[in-house]
Amino acid sequence: MFRSPESFPSQTETLRQDGFKQEREPWSEKSKLGDLDAEIIYSGAEKRKNAKSFNNIETDVNVCEVSEIRFINSEGKVLEFSSLLPPEWKFATEGPYATNSISNAETTEKIISFPGYVLDPDRTKITQVPENQDLPQPHDDSRRKFFVSPIDRRVAEIPATPILEKPTAILGILHEIGHIEKGISQEEFYLHQKLEEKETLRPKEREIYGEIVIRHERDAWAYALKQYRDLKKQGFDLYPQAENNQEILDFVDKCLDTYMKKLEIQDSPRIKRGVMDFIKNLFQD
Ligand SMILES: [Zn+2]
Repeated sequence: MFRSPESFPSQTETLRQDGFKQEREPWSEKSKLGDLDAEIIYSGAEKRKNAKSFNNIETDVNVCEVSEIRFINSEGKVLEFSSLLPPEWKFATEGPYATNSISNAETTEKIISFPGYVLDPDRTKITQVPENQDLPQPHDDSRRKFFVSPIDRRVAEIPATPILEKPTAILGILHEIGHIEKGISQEEFYLHQKLEEKETLRPKEREIYGEIVIRHERDAWAYALKQYRDLKKQGFDLYPQAENNQEILDFVDKCLDTYMKKLEIQDSPRIKRGVMDFIKNLFQD
């Protein structure tokens, strides 16, 4: 999992520095996460990913393959994040500004995909372009995305945070690895598909499926938080902004809520309390 910086591949030096992707050429993006230097290295390869397997969306999407995610701490120790992946699995991102939540493609493709950047709509700035001025083209710069509406001549400028500066997103990736470690059964996959097709689950099926999903979520978070804790002990604090573990547990709580709502689980406060107690116990200081 760790290696010294001297053994970096020489390709790192030849990576493109000027912006997003040129086909078939590797490039990298550097960020800071607290005291850690963070780097994401794209292989240059693009893949078609069938999005249907986790969201039942019919379209395929292009994803950029990530060959390495690495963190370097102040002592120069290196964490190769890809070494946490199970065999044959790869990371990929759906372009630099995709806002899709992190998700694994479960059974058909061995890819964990995540957005390269996370947009922050709360800090959107909207400007009106006067009639006598030319409208800009929609464009990206490294930290912002510009949407242009020709109809009302407005430009929306949305700040973007690189993924490796977003601790919740990194926890999310660990969570997805937890799902892979745990695996998914045929029955679970079948119920999942039925749920995505909406209204076809009978109440009993919904209840069974709800229990399965929540158990999976619980175990994936337990895995993620255990990894987080172990990595922190090894000198890599992937959530440096957190004042204490409670802040991290609150984030997990919020993620579980999303599932509870979607699954319309009855008696959800009781179930969630059970799950959170389970996770808390594994995540003692
Ligand atoms: Zn999950």
